[in-house]
Amino acid sequence: MDTKYIFVTGGVVSSLGKGIATSSIGLLLKSYGLNVTLQKIDPYINVDPGTMNPYQHGEVFVTQDGAECDLDLGHYERFLNSSLSRENNITTGQIYFSVITKERRGEYLGKTVQVVPHITNEIKSRITQLADSNNVDVVITEVGGTVGDIEGQPFLEAVRQMRLDYGKENTMYIHLTLVPFIKAAREFKTKPTQHSVRELRAIGIQPDILLCRSDSWLTADERKKISLFCNVPIDAVIDAIDVECIYEIPLIFRQQKLDQMILASLGIERDEPDLAEWELFVQKAKSPSRVVEIAVCGKYVELRDAYKSIMEALYHAAVANDARLKLKWIDSDRIEDEIALENALGMVNGILVPGGFGIRGVEGKIRIVTYARNRKKPYLGLCLGMQCMVIEYARHVCGMKGANSTEFDDSTIYPVIDLLPGQRKIKNMGGTMRLGNYPCKLEAHSLARKIYAKNMVEERHRHRYEVNPKYIKRLSEKGLIFSGRSPNGKLMEIAEVRGHPFFISTQFHPEFTSRPLAPNPVFYHFIKSSLETF
Ligand code: GLN
Repeated sequence: MDTKYIFVTGGVVSSLGKGIATSSIGLLLKSYGLNVTLQKIDPYINVDPGTMNPYQHGEVFVTQDGAECDLDLGHYERFLNSSLSRENNITTGQIYFSVITKERRGEYLGKTVQVVPHITNEIKSRITQLADSNNVDVVITEVGGTVGDIEGQPFLEAVRQMRLDYGKENTMYIHLTLVPFIKAAREFKTKPTQHSVRELRAIGIQPDILLCRSDSWLTADERKKISLFCNVPIDAVIDAIDVECIYEIPLIFRQQKLDQMILASLGIERDEPDLAEWELFVQKAKSPSRVVEIAVCGKYVELRDAYKSIMEALYHAAVANDARLKLKWIDSDRIEDEIALENALGMVNGILVPGGFGIRGVEGKIRIVTYARNRKKPYLGLCLGMQCMVIEYARHVCGMKGANSTEFDDSTIYPVIDLLPGQRKIKNMGGTMRLGNYPCKLEAHSLARKIYAKNMVEERHRHRYEVNPKYIKRLSEKGLIFSGRSPNGKLMEIAEVRGHPFFISTQFHPEFTSRPLAPNPVFYHFIKSSLETF
Protein backbone atom coordinates (compact mmCIF):
# COMPACT_ATOMS: atom_id res chain seq x y z
CA MET A 1 0.00 0.00 0.00
CA ASP A 2 1.24 3.53 -0.81
CA THR A 3 1.69 5.81 2.16
CA LYS A 4 -1.40 7.92 2.76
CA TYR A 5 -1.18 11.54 3.87
CA ILE A 6 -3.92 13.26 5.82
CA PHE A 7 -3.70 16.97 6.60
CA VAL A 8 -5.67 18.62 9.38
CA THR A 9 -6.07 22.39 9.23
CA GLY A 10 -8.05 24.74 11.43
CA GLY A 11 -10.13 27.81 10.80
CA VAL A 12 -12.05 30.66 12.45
CA VAL A 13 -10.30 30.70 15.83
CA SER A 14 -7.52 28.83 17.61
CA SER A 15 -8.00 26.44 20.53
CA LEU A 16 -10.74 24.42 18.84
CA GLY A 17 -9.08 21.17 19.78
CA LYS A 18 -7.28 20.42 16.53
CA GLY A 19 -4.74 18.34 18.42
CA ILE A 20 -7.45 16.20 19.97
CA ALA A 21 -9.25 15.87 16.63
CA THR A 22 -6.01 14.80 14.93
CA SER A 23 -5.26 12.33 17.73
CA SER A 24 -8.79 10.94 17.52
CA ILE A 25 -8.48 10.29 13.79
CA GLY A 26 -5.12 8.66 14.49
CA LEU A 27 -6.60 6.36 17.10
CA LEU A 28 -9.51 5.38 14.83
CA LEU A 29 -7.20 4.45 11.95
CA LYS A 30 -4.82 2.64 14.28
CA SER A 31 -7.72 0.59 15.61
CA TYR A 32 -8.02 -0.92 12.11
CA GLY A 33 -4.50 -2.27 12.45
CA LEU A 34 -2.90 0.46 10.36
CA ASN A 35 0.54 1.80 11.21
CA VAL A 36 -0.24 5.46 11.90
CA THR A 37 1.95 8.36 12.90
CA LEU A 38 1.02 11.93 13.78
CA GLN A 39 2.96 15.06 13.08
CA LYS A 40 2.56 18.65 14.24
CA ILE A 41 3.64 21.71 12.29
CA ASP A 42 4.18 24.84 14.37
CA PRO A 43 4.51 27.94 12.22
CA TYR A 44 6.47 30.01 14.75
CA ILE A 45 10.13 30.92 14.20
CA ASN A 46 11.47 29.43 17.43
CA VAL A 47 13.38 26.23 16.65
CA ASP A 48 11.42 24.51 19.43
CA PRO A 49 9.23 25.68 22.32
CA GLY A 50 11.92 24.82 24.89
CA THR A 51 12.94 28.43 25.33
CA MET A 52 9.40 29.81 25.51
CA ASN A 53 7.63 30.92 28.66
CA PRO A 54 4.79 28.56 29.64
CA TYR A 55 2.42 31.53 29.52
CA GLN A 56 3.23 31.88 25.82
CA HIS A 57 3.09 28.30 24.89
CA GLY A 58 1.71 26.04 27.63
CA GLU A 59 3.49 22.84 28.51
CA VAL A 60 6.67 21.82 26.73
CA PHE A 61 6.23 18.13 26.01
CA VAL A 62 9.39 16.00 25.98
CA THR A 63 9.78 12.96 23.73
CA GLN A 64 11.84 9.92 24.66
CA ASP A 65 14.67 11.05 22.37
CA GLY A 66 14.79 14.36 24.21
CA ALA A 67 13.01 16.77 21.86
CA GLU A 68 11.18 19.68 23.46
CA CYS A 69 7.87 19.75 21.63
CA ASP A 70 4.43 21.20 21.37
CA LEU A 71 1.92 19.85 23.88
CA ASP A 72 -0.13 18.30 21.09
CA LEU A 73 2.57 15.64 20.86
CA GLY A 74 1.39 14.61 24.32
CA HIS A 75 -2.14 14.11 23.02
CA TYR A 76 -0.79 12.14 20.07
CA GLU A 77 1.13 9.78 22.34
CA ARG A 78 -1.78 9.34 24.72
CA PHE A 79 -4.28 8.54 21.98
CA LEU A 80 -1.97 6.40 19.88
CA ASN A 81 -0.49 4.71 22.96
CA SER A 82 2.94 4.91 21.38
CA SER A 83 6.05 7.04 21.72
CA LEU A 84 6.96 9.59 19.08
CA SER A 85 10.21 11.41 18.41
CA ARG A 86 11.68 14.71 17.30
CA GLU A 87 10.65 14.20 13.66
CA ASN A 88 7.03 14.40 14.72
CA ASN A 89 7.16 18.14 15.39
CA ILE A 90 8.32 20.68 12.80
CA THR A 91 8.62 24.44 13.22
CA THR A 92 9.30 27.28 10.80
CA GLY A 93 12.53 27.83 12.74
CA GLN A 94 13.73 24.28 11.96
CA ILE A 95 12.80 24.52 8.28
CA TYR A 96 14.62 27.83 7.73
CA PHE A 97 17.56 26.68 9.84
CA SER A 98 17.97 23.67 7.62
CA VAL A 99 17.51 25.56 4.32
CA ILE A 100 19.95 28.31 5.36
CA THR A 101 22.52 25.70 6.48
CA LYS A 102 22.24 24.01 3.07
CA GLU A 103 22.57 27.35 1.31
CA ARG A 104 25.76 28.16 3.26
CA ARG A 105 27.16 24.77 2.30
CA GLY A 106 26.52 25.65 -1.34
CA GLU A 107 24.01 22.89 -1.84
CA TYR A 108 21.69 25.01 -4.00
CA LEU A 109 24.35 25.35 -6.70
CA GLY A 110 24.10 29.07 -7.25
CA LYS A 111 20.31 29.26 -7.41
CA THR A 112 18.23 31.97 -5.73
CA VAL A 113 16.83 30.28 -2.61
CA GLN A 114 13.09 30.95 -2.35
CA VAL A 115 10.00 30.07 -0.33
CA VAL A 116 8.67 28.15 -3.34
CA PRO A 117 10.24 25.69 -4.09
CA HIS A 118 13.05 25.52 -1.50
CA ILE A 119 11.15 26.08 1.73
CA THR A 120 8.11 24.12 0.51
CA ASN A 121 10.35 21.24 -0.65
CA GLU A 122 12.01 21.15 2.74
CA ILE A 123 8.57 21.00 4.40
CA LYS A 124 7.41 18.21 2.09
CA SER A 125 10.56 16.22 2.70
CA ARG A 126 10.00 16.45 6.48
CA ILE A 127 6.55 14.95 5.95
CA THR A 128 7.57 12.16 3.58
CA GLN A 129 10.75 11.29 5.52
CA LEU A 130 8.61 10.58 8.54
CA ALA A 131 6.70 8.00 6.51
CA ASP A 132 9.85 6.44 5.04
CA SER A 133 11.85 6.19 8.24
CA ASN A 134 9.06 4.51 10.18
CA ASN A 135 7.43 2.44 7.47
CA VAL A 136 4.03 3.91 8.21
CA ASP A 137 0.75 3.45 6.36
CA VAL A 138 -0.75 6.81 7.27
CA VAL A 139 0.87 10.10 8.27
CA ILE A 140 -1.53 12.61 9.75
CA THR A 141 -0.06 16.10 9.73
CA GLU A 142 -1.69 18.83 11.78
CA VAL A 143 -0.95 22.35 10.58
CA GLY A 144 -0.84 24.59 13.64
CA GLY A 145 -2.46 28.03 13.72
CA THR A 146 -5.48 29.18 11.78
CA VAL A 147 -5.99 29.37 8.02
CA GLY A 148 -5.21 32.94 6.96
CA ASP A 149 -2.23 33.39 9.29
CA ILE A 150 0.73 34.86 7.40
CA GLU A 151 3.22 32.44 8.93
CA GLY A 152 1.20 29.37 8.03
CA GLN A 153 1.21 30.08 4.28
CA PRO A 154 4.35 28.18 3.20
CA PHE A 155 3.06 25.12 5.06
CA LEU A 156 -0.36 25.26 3.41
CA GLU A 157 1.31 25.70 0.03
CA ALA A 158 3.41 22.58 0.69
CA VAL A 159 0.31 20.71 1.80
CA ARG A 160 -1.48 21.76 -1.39
CA GLN A 161 1.39 20.44 -3.50
CA MET A 162 1.27 17.08 -1.74
CA ARG A 163 -1.95 16.19 -3.60
CA LEU A 164 -0.29 17.09 -6.87
CA ASP A 165 2.67 14.87 -5.97
CA TYR A 166 0.83 11.86 -4.53
CA GLY A 167 -2.67 11.97 -6.04
CA LYS A 168 -6.16 12.22 -4.60
CA GLU A 169 -6.24 8.55 -3.62
CA ASN A 170 -3.28 9.09 -1.30
CA THR A 171 -4.08 12.47 0.25
CA MET A 172 -6.91 13.96 2.29
CA TYR A 173 -7.70 17.38 3.64
CA ILE A 174 -9.67 17.68 6.85
CA HIS A 175 -10.62 21.12 8.14
CA LEU A 176 -11.77 21.92 11.68
CA THR A 177 -13.90 25.02 12.16
CA LEU A 178 -16.18 26.63 14.69
CA VAL A 179 -19.94 26.78 14.31
CA PRO A 180 -20.98 29.17 17.08
CA PHE A 181 -24.43 29.23 18.61
CA ILE A 182 -25.64 32.82 18.86
CA LYS A 183 -27.92 33.05 21.85
CA ALA A 184 -29.79 36.21 20.80
CA ALA A 185 -30.69 34.70 17.42
CA ARG A 186 -31.10 31.20 18.93
CA GLU A 187 -29.30 29.63 16.04
CA PHE A 188 -26.02 28.23 14.85
CA LYS A 189 -24.06 30.48 12.52
CA THR A 190 -22.34 28.84 9.58
CA LYS A 191 -20.82 31.99 8.08
CA PRO A 192 -17.45 31.77 9.88
CA THR A 193 -17.07 28.23 8.50
CA GLN A 194 -17.96 29.39 5.01
CA HIS A 195 -15.31 32.14 5.20
CA SER A 196 -12.71 29.83 6.54
CA VAL A 197 -13.27 27.28 3.77
CA ARG A 198 -13.25 30.07 1.19
CA GLU A 199 -9.85 31.15 2.49
CA LEU A 200 -8.57 27.58 2.19
CA ARG A 201 -9.93 27.22 -1.34
CA ALA A 202 -8.23 30.47 -2.33
CA ILE A 203 -4.93 28.75 -1.51
CA GLY A 204 -6.02 25.82 -3.66
CA ILE A 205 -7.11 23.37 -0.97
CA GLN A 206 -10.65 22.03 -1.12
CA PRO A 207 -11.34 20.23 2.16
CA ASP A 208 -12.67 16.68 1.81
CA ILE A 209 -14.14 16.61 5.29
CA LEU A 210 -15.24 19.34 7.69
CA LEU A 211 -15.17 18.89 11.43
CA CYS A 212 -17.54 21.42 12.94
CA ARG A 213 -16.93 22.29 16.56
CA SER A 214 -20.22 23.19 18.22
CA ASP A 215 -21.91 23.19 21.65
CA SER A 216 -24.51 20.67 20.58
CA TRP A 217 -25.52 18.62 17.55
CA LEU A 218 -26.14 20.53 14.32
CA THR A 219 -29.47 20.03 12.62
CA ALA A 220 -29.81 18.46 9.17
CA ASP A 221 -30.56 21.91 7.72
CA GLU A 222 -27.41 23.42 9.11
CA ARG A 223 -25.32 20.57 7.81
CA LYS A 224 -26.94 20.93 4.41
CA LYS A 225 -26.13 24.61 4.33
CA ILE A 226 -22.50 24.02 5.29
CA SER A 227 -22.28 21.28 2.67
CA LEU A 228 -23.66 23.50 -0.06
CA PHE A 229 -21.57 26.60 0.66
CA CYS A 230 -18.37 24.75 1.41
CA ASN A 231 -18.60 22.26 -1.45
CA VAL A 232 -18.31 19.24 0.83
CA PRO A 233 -20.70 16.21 0.71
CA ILE A 234 -23.28 16.36 3.48
CA ASP A 235 -22.04 13.15 5.12
CA ALA A 236 -18.61 14.70 5.30
CA VAL A 237 -19.88 17.49 7.54
CA ILE A 238 -18.99 15.97 10.88
CA ASP A 239 -20.05 17.31 14.24
CA ALA A 240 -17.27 17.78 16.76
CA ILE A 241 -19.49 18.54 19.72
CA ASP A 242 -18.24 19.59 23.14
CA VAL A 243 -17.80 16.64 25.45
CA GLU A 244 -16.91 16.17 29.07
CA CYS A 245 -14.24 13.56 28.37
CA ILE A 246 -11.81 14.19 25.48
CA TYR A 247 -11.24 10.47 25.05
CA GLU A 248 -14.82 10.18 23.85
CA ILE A 249 -14.16 12.21 20.68
CA PRO A 250 -12.95 9.25 18.57
CA LEU A 251 -16.18 7.42 19.43
CA ILE A 252 -18.25 10.45 18.46
CA PHE A 253 -16.43 10.63 15.14
CA ARG A 254 -16.97 6.93 14.56
CA GLN A 255 -20.65 7.26 15.29
CA GLN A 256 -20.75 9.62 12.29
CA LYS A 257 -18.71 7.17 10.17
CA LEU A 258 -15.71 9.45 9.84
CA ASP A 259 -13.36 6.46 9.95
CA GLN A 260 -15.16 4.64 7.12
CA MET A 261 -15.23 7.76 5.02
CA ILE A 262 -11.46 8.20 5.35
CA LEU A 263 -10.76 4.54 4.53
CA ALA A 264 -13.02 4.66 1.49
CA SER A 265 -11.48 7.86 0.18
CA LEU A 266 -7.96 6.50 0.58
CA GLY A 267 -8.90 3.11 -0.88
CA ILE A 268 -8.04 1.16 2.27
CA GLU A 269 -10.01 -2.01 2.90
CA ARG A 270 -10.16 -3.25 6.48
CA ASP A 271 -12.43 -5.25 8.76
CA GLU A 272 -13.98 -3.92 11.95
CA PRO A 273 -11.79 -1.76 14.21
CA ASP A 274 -10.80 -2.92 17.67
CA LEU A 275 -11.95 -0.24 20.08
CA ALA A 276 -13.20 -2.41 22.94
CA GLU A 277 -10.62 -1.33 25.52
CA TRP A 278 -10.99 2.32 24.58
CA GLU A 279 -14.77 2.15 24.92
CA LEU A 280 -14.41 0.55 28.31
CA PHE A 281 -12.08 3.31 29.45
CA VAL A 282 -14.54 6.01 28.34
CA GLN A 283 -17.39 4.21 30.08
CA LYS A 284 -15.38 3.98 33.31
CA ALA A 285 -14.29 7.60 33.02
CA LYS A 286 -17.89 8.77 32.79
CA SER A 287 -19.28 6.94 35.81
CA PRO A 288 -16.80 6.76 38.67
CA SER A 289 -18.07 5.86 42.11
CA ARG A 290 -15.93 8.18 44.27
CA VAL A 291 -14.09 11.50 44.16
CA VAL A 292 -10.44 12.32 44.71
CA GLU A 293 -9.32 15.90 45.16
CA ILE A 294 -5.73 16.79 44.33
CA ALA A 295 -4.07 20.16 44.90
CA VAL A 296 -1.71 21.12 42.09
CA CYS A 297 0.61 23.75 43.53
CA GLY A 298 2.50 25.62 40.85
CA LYS A 299 3.19 29.12 39.68
CA TYR A 300 1.63 28.96 36.23
CA VAL A 301 -1.80 27.92 37.52
CA GLU A 302 -3.70 30.62 35.64
CA LEU A 303 -2.80 28.76 32.47
CA ARG A 304 -3.91 25.16 32.84
CA ASP A 305 -2.25 24.22 29.56
CA ALA A 306 1.09 24.60 31.32
CA TYR A 307 0.26 21.39 33.20
CA LYS A 308 -1.47 19.44 30.45
CA SER A 309 0.33 16.10 30.81
CA ILE A 310 0.05 16.24 34.61
CA MET A 311 -3.70 16.81 34.37
CA GLU A 312 -4.07 13.90 31.96
CA ALA A 313 -1.83 11.59 34.02
CA LEU A 314 -3.89 12.35 37.14
CA TYR A 315 -7.05 11.74 35.14
CA HIS A 316 -5.86 8.35 33.82
CA ALA A 317 -4.88 7.32 37.34
CA ALA A 318 -8.19 8.50 38.80
CA VAL A 319 -10.18 6.52 36.23
CA ALA A 320 -8.11 3.42 36.96
CA ASN A 321 -8.92 3.92 40.65
CA ASP A 322 -12.63 4.34 39.90
CA ALA A 323 -12.60 7.99 41.01
CA ARG A 324 -13.67 11.35 39.62
CA LEU A 325 -10.72 13.73 39.60
CA LYS A 326 -11.23 17.11 41.21
CA LEU A 327 -8.32 19.51 40.81
CA LYS A 328 -7.64 22.36 43.18
CA TRP A 329 -5.23 24.87 41.66
CA ILE A 330 -2.97 26.51 44.21
CA ASP A 331 -0.75 29.43 43.29
CA SER A 332 2.38 28.62 45.30
CA ASP A 333 3.37 32.29 45.18
CA ARG A 334 0.44 33.07 47.47
CA ILE A 335 1.23 30.49 50.16
CA GLU A 336 2.79 32.68 52.79
CA ASP A 337 1.55 31.40 56.15
CA GLU A 338 -0.22 28.63 58.04
CA ILE A 339 -3.68 30.03 57.32
CA ALA A 340 -3.04 30.05 53.58
CA LEU A 341 -1.71 26.49 53.81
CA GLU A 342 -4.70 25.23 55.76
CA ASN A 343 -7.17 26.93 53.40
CA ALA A 344 -5.42 25.58 50.36
CA LEU A 345 -4.64 22.06 51.50
CA GLY A 346 -6.74 21.20 54.54
CA MET A 347 -9.44 19.37 52.64
CA VAL A 348 -7.64 17.83 49.68
CA ASN A 349 -6.73 14.15 49.42
CA GLY A 350 -3.31 14.60 47.89
CA ILE A 351 -0.76 17.30 47.07
CA LEU A 352 1.27 17.59 43.88
CA VAL A 353 4.11 20.04 43.28
CA PRO A 354 4.99 20.10 39.57
CA GLY A 355 8.12 21.21 37.73
CA GLY A 356 9.08 24.79 37.11
CA PHE A 357 11.87 27.27 36.54
CA GLY A 358 12.95 30.38 38.42
CA ILE A 359 12.57 31.51 42.00
CA ARG A 360 8.99 32.81 42.02
CA GLY A 361 6.76 30.60 44.14
CA VAL A 362 9.58 28.38 45.42
CA GLU A 363 9.33 29.34 49.11
CA GLY A 364 5.58 28.66 48.95
CA LYS A 365 6.31 25.22 47.48
CA ILE A 366 8.76 24.50 50.30
CA ARG A 367 6.06 25.45 52.86
CA ILE A 368 3.70 23.09 51.07
CA VAL A 369 6.22 20.24 51.37
CA THR A 370 6.58 20.89 55.12
CA TYR A 371 2.80 20.78 55.46
CA ALA A 372 2.49 17.51 53.52
CA ARG A 373 5.31 15.91 55.51
CA ASN A 374 3.99 16.94 58.93
CA ARG A 375 0.31 16.28 58.19
CA LYS A 376 1.10 12.99 56.50
CA LYS A 377 -0.81 13.95 53.36
CA PRO A 378 0.15 12.07 50.19
CA TYR A 379 2.72 14.14 48.34
CA LEU A 380 4.07 13.80 44.84
CA GLY A 381 6.88 16.10 43.71
CA LEU A 382 7.91 16.29 40.08
CA CYS A 383 11.30 17.66 39.04
CA LEU A 384 11.31 21.06 40.81
CA GLY A 385 8.84 19.37 43.18
CA MET A 386 11.60 16.91 44.09
CA GLN A 387 14.19 19.66 44.43
CA CYS A 388 11.85 21.50 46.85
CA MET A 389 11.42 18.29 48.85
CA VAL A 390 15.21 17.94 49.20
CA ILE A 391 15.64 21.60 50.18
CA GLU A 392 12.84 21.30 52.74
CA TYR A 393 14.31 18.15 54.26
CA ALA A 394 17.77 19.70 54.44
CA ARG A 395 16.49 22.84 56.14
CA HIS A 396 14.01 21.36 58.58
CA VAL A 397 15.15 17.83 59.31
CA CYS A 398 18.91 17.94 58.73
CA GLY A 399 19.49 21.34 60.34
CA MET A 400 20.95 22.94 57.21
CA LYS A 401 19.44 26.38 57.66
CA GLY A 402 19.41 28.35 54.44
CA ALA A 403 19.83 25.25 52.24
CA ASN A 404 18.80 26.01 48.69
CA SER A 405 19.27 25.33 45.02
CA THR A 406 21.92 27.43 43.31
CA GLU A 407 19.23 28.18 40.73
CA PHE A 408 17.61 30.42 43.38
CA ASP A 409 20.52 31.41 45.61
CA ASP A 410 24.01 30.98 44.26
CA SER A 411 25.66 31.98 47.53
CA THR A 412 23.81 29.52 49.80
CA ILE A 413 26.06 27.73 52.27
CA TYR A 414 24.19 24.47 51.66
CA PRO A 415 23.77 24.09 47.88
CA VAL A 416 21.82 20.82 48.15
CA ILE A 417 20.65 21.27 44.55
CA ASP A 418 23.29 22.37 42.09
CA LEU A 419 24.28 22.38 38.44
CA LEU A 420 25.93 19.27 37.09
CA PRO A 421 29.57 19.95 36.21
CA GLY A 422 28.69 19.36 32.53
CA GLN A 423 25.98 22.04 32.69
CA ARG A 424 28.28 24.79 34.01
CA LYS A 425 30.01 25.41 30.68
CA ILE A 426 26.82 25.66 28.66
CA LYS A 427 26.08 29.07 27.21
CA ASN A 428 23.24 28.34 24.76
CA MET A 429 19.78 27.93 26.25
CA GLY A 430 17.99 25.90 23.54
CA GLY A 431 17.99 22.11 23.85
CA THR A 432 20.83 22.00 26.37
CA MET A 433 19.12 20.65 29.49
CA ARG A 434 19.23 17.00 30.52
CA LEU A 435 16.48 15.89 28.18
CA GLY A 436 14.61 12.72 27.32
CA ASN A 437 14.85 9.14 28.52
CA TYR A 438 17.37 8.01 31.10
CA PRO A 439 17.42 4.73 33.00
CA CYS A 440 16.86 4.68 36.73
CA LYS A 441 17.70 1.84 39.10
CA LEU A 442 15.24 1.27 41.92
CA GLU A 443 16.26 0.25 45.40
CA ALA A 444 14.91 -2.96 46.91
CA HIS A 445 12.18 -2.61 49.54
CA SER A 446 11.47 0.99 48.62
CA LEU A 447 8.14 2.62 47.81
CA ALA A 448 9.54 3.36 44.32
CA ARG A 449 10.19 -0.35 43.75
CA LYS A 450 6.70 -1.22 44.99
CA ILE A 451 5.18 1.37 42.66
CA TYR A 452 6.97 0.21 39.51
CA ALA A 453 7.20 -3.47 40.47
CA LYS A 454 10.55 -3.77 38.66
CA ASN A 455 14.12 -2.81 39.42
CA MET A 456 14.89 -0.63 36.42
CA VAL A 457 12.76 2.00 34.67
CA GLU A 458 13.22 4.63 31.99
CA GLU A 459 11.50 7.98 32.29
CA ARG A 460 11.81 11.37 30.61
CA HIS A 461 13.78 14.30 31.94
CA ARG A 462 13.93 18.06 31.48
CA HIS A 463 16.13 19.84 33.98
CA ARG A 464 19.54 21.42 34.49
CA TYR A 465 19.96 21.07 38.24
CA GLU A 466 20.49 17.90 40.32
CA VAL A 467 20.74 16.76 43.91
CA ASN A 468 24.27 17.70 44.97
CA PRO A 469 26.21 14.44 45.64
CA LYS A 470 28.06 16.15 48.51
CA TYR A 471 24.92 16.13 50.66
CA ILE A 472 23.55 12.68 49.94
CA LYS A 473 25.11 11.08 53.00
CA ARG A 474 23.82 13.76 55.36
CA LEU A 475 20.32 13.68 53.91
CA SER A 476 20.16 9.87 53.89
CA GLU A 477 21.32 9.59 57.49
CA LYS A 478 18.29 11.61 58.51
CA GLY A 479 15.88 9.47 56.52
CA LEU A 480 15.61 10.95 53.04
CA ILE A 481 16.00 7.86 50.91
CA PHE A 482 17.21 8.12 47.35
CA SER A 483 15.40 5.06 46.12
CA GLY A 484 15.98 5.68 42.41
CA ARG A 485 19.41 6.49 40.97
CA SER A 486 21.14 6.53 37.61
CA PRO A 487 22.78 3.13 36.94
CA ASN A 488 26.23 4.50 37.90
CA GLY A 489 24.72 5.66 41.19
CA LYS A 490 25.70 9.30 40.68
CA LEU A 491 22.40 10.99 39.90
CA MET A 492 19.47 10.97 42.32
CA GLU A 493 16.25 10.25 40.42
CA ILE A 494 13.73 9.47 43.18
CA ALA A 495 13.52 10.62 46.81
CA GLU A 496 11.18 9.23 49.44
CA VAL A 497 10.64 9.19 53.20
CA ARG A 498 9.46 6.19 55.18
CA GLY A 499 6.85 6.36 57.93
CA HIS A 500 4.58 8.51 55.80
CA PRO A 501 1.70 7.09 53.72
CA PHE A 502 3.10 8.52 50.47
CA PHE A 503 5.89 11.05 50.34
CA ILE A 504 7.82 10.65 47.16
CA SER A 505 9.21 12.68 44.32
CA THR A 506 10.97 12.17 41.04
CA GLN A 507 13.62 14.17 39.22
CA PHE A 508 12.07 12.93 35.98
CA HIS A 509 8.61 13.62 34.59
CA PRO A 510 6.44 10.50 34.86
CA GLU A 511 3.49 12.48 33.47
CA PHE A 512 4.90 12.24 29.94
CA THR A 513 4.49 8.46 29.76
CA SER A 514 1.00 8.12 31.18
CA ARG A 515 -1.63 6.81 28.77
CA PRO A 516 -5.37 6.30 29.28
CA LEU A 517 -5.02 2.55 28.87
CA ALA A 518 -1.73 2.41 30.78
CA PRO A 519 -1.60 5.01 33.57
CA ASN A 520 1.88 5.80 34.84
CA PRO A 521 2.44 3.74 38.04
CA VAL A 522 3.66 6.75 40.06
CA PHE A 523 0.39 8.58 39.38
CA TYR A 524 -1.67 5.44 39.87
CA HIS A 525 -0.21 4.85 43.34
CA PHE A 526 -0.39 8.53 44.26
CA ILE A 527 -4.14 8.56 43.57
CA LYS A 528 -4.62 5.19 45.26
CA SER A 529 -2.86 6.38 48.37
CA SER A 530 -4.73 9.71 48.33
CA LEU A 531 -8.01 7.81 48.29
CA GLU A 532 -6.93 5.48 51.09
CA THR A 533 -5.41 8.08 53.37
CA PHE A 534 -8.24 10.61 53.60
N1 GLN B 1 14.42 24.41 37.36
C1 GLN B 1 14.80 23.09 37.72
C2 GLN B 1 15.99 22.59 36.90
O1 GLN B 1 16.31 23.15 35.88
C3 GLN B 1 13.63 22.13 37.60
C4 GLN B 1 13.20 21.90 36.19
C5 GLN B 1 11.81 21.28 36.09
O2 GLN B 1 11.08 21.25 37.06
N2 GLN B 1 11.44 20.81 34.92
O3 GLN B 1 16.62 21.63 37.26
